[in-house]
Amino acid sequence: MEKVRVRFAPSPTGPLHIGGARSALFNYLIARKYKGEMVLRIEDTDLERSSKESEENIFSSLKWLGIDWDEGPDIGGKFAPYRQTERLDIYTKYAQQLIENGQAFYCFCSEEELEKDRQEAMAKGETPKYSGRCRNLTEEQRQKFLAEGRKPVVRFKVPETGEVVIEDLVRGTVRFENEGIGDFVIVKSDGIPTYNFAVVIDDHLMEISHVVRAEEHLSNTPRQILIYEAFGWEKPVFAHISLILGKDKTKMSKRHGATSVVQYRELGYLPEAVVNFLALLGWSPQEEEEIFTMEELIQKFSLDRVAKNPAVFDMEKLRWINGYYIRHTSIERLTELAIPILEKAGYLPSELTEKEYEWVKLIVTAVQEKLHSLNEILDYMPIFTGEKVELENEEAKAVLEEEQVPQVIELLRTKLAEMHTLEPEGVKKALKEIVKESKLGGRKVYMPIRVALTGQMHGPELYYIIPVLGKELIEKRLANTLHK
Ligand code: GLU
Repeated sequence: MEKVRVRFAPSPTGPLHIGGARSALFNYLIARKYKGEMVLRIEDTDLERSSKESEENIFSSLKWLGIDWDEGPDIGGKFAPYRQTERLDIYTKYAQQLIENGQAFYCFCSEEELEKDRQEAMAKGETPKYSGRCRNLTEEQRQKFLAEGRKPVVRFKVPETGEVVIEDLVRGTVRFENEGIGDFVIVKSDGIPTYNFAVVIDDHLMEISHVVRAEEHLSNTPRQILIYEAFGWEKPVFAHISLILGKDKTKMSKRHGATSVVQYRELGYLPEAVVNFLALLGWSPQEEEEIFTMEELIQKFSLDRVAKNPAVFDMEKLRWINGYYIRHTSIERLTELAIPILEKAGYLPSELTEKEYEWVKLIVTAVQEKLHSLNEILDYMPIFTGEKVELENEEAKAVLEEEQVPQVIELLRTKLAEMHTLEPEGVKKALKEIVKESKLGGRKVYMPIRVALTGQMHGPELYYIIPVLGKELIEKRLANTLHK
C-alpha cells in the first residue's frame, strides 16, 4: 500500500463537536495503525464564523482526547501552511489555471439574477441550478461588466453529460449524474475559495491518500471529484462515516445534551472513556468486548467494520463506559479531577491545604465505585458536609426508633473517643467490634449509625464516611438526628 496520509480538516467555527472528534479519531486510528501520517488542517475560509478561540478549542480538545498529529498549523510540516487563509495565493493560482484551460469561468450574475433563475426553475418544477449565463461571455462583455463595477465569482464548468462514480469504502458505489450538479462557485467575489475547491487543492498538494469524513460531505464529493478530474489528479480513497443520531433517531444536536468535547470534559468524563465510546459510534469490533484502550483501538480498528447505518449516541452507554474507567483509574488522578468540580461548587477554596486534599481523596475513595461521571460526586456531597441531616423518609425515621439504637450510638461514641485519628481501616475495625460486642448483628448496628450520620438508608461505606466527617461533625450530626 502507498503511504497512508489522512487528515482531519475542521472549520474553526465553534468548539470541537462530538461528530468532529469521531472523524478525527477514525483518521488518527488509521494513521497510527498503518504507520502513516495524520495532518491537521484548519479550514477557516468562512471568515465571519471562524475564530482563534474555536481553533484553540479544537487543538486542546484533540490533545485532551490523546489524538495527536504529525503536521499542522501549530507544528508545521512539509506542506505548510496548514491554515487555509494562509494559502489563498495557492488557490488563486489553481483557479487561474482552470480558467485558462476553459474549465472554469468568471461569472458576473448578480444575486437578483440568480434568484430570478431559481424562482423560474421552481415554477417549472425543475431543480434549480446555474443557468450557464456567463459560461461563454466574450472579452467585450466581460470588460463591460467589470466597468460596471461588478465583481465576478469563478465557477467550475461542470460537464453537461456523464456521471461521477464514487467508490466509497463505507457506502459502496455511489453515482451522481453531472447533469444535476450545475456550474458551482469555486472562488467567491472576494477572492476566497469555496470549501469544495480549497479542500481538493489541499488534499492533493498534501498528498492525502484517504479522506475519511462525515456522511454529510458525500453530496459534496462529486463536485470535488470533478475538480480532481479537471486537473488530471489522482483521487484519494473516500470513506464517509454515518451521521450520529440522538436516541430519538434525529440528528444529534444540542437538544440531546452536551455536544462538544469540552462539555464532556467539564461534566467529569475521562478522555479514555470518550475515546472508547466514540470509536464504537459507527465501528464495531470483531469480538463482544467493548472496552478498548487507544492502543487496542489502533490495532483493531478498520474501516471495513464501520457501519453504513447511522450511529446512535447512547448516553447510558457512555456513562457505563465512563464508570468503568473511573473504577479502574487511580485515586490520585480522580482526586485531581474532582478538585476543580468541588471548587466550582463551593466546597473547596482555590488553594488546598494538605488536610483538605486528603479529605477530597477520602471522599473520592468512598464514591469511586458509584460514579458514572465525576460531577456526580456533587450528588454525594450532602452526605459528607454540613451539620444538618435530613432523614430521607419514614423508614429512616423508624430505624432510629429501634430499641437498640441508644446502645449502638453509645458504643460508637466510646470507640471513636478511643481513636486518636479516624482512618478507614481503624474505623472498619471499630465497627466490627461494635457488632461483636453488642451481639446485635450487622444490620442492627450499621443501619442506625448510617441513618443517624447521613439521614439515608444507603450510600458509600460507613468506614469512609466516618473519617471524612471527623469527630466534631459526627457529634453535631448525632445530636441533630437523635434529639429530634
Ligand atoms: N471543513 C470541513 C468540515 O469541517 C471539512 C470536511 C472534510 O473533511 O472534507 O466539515
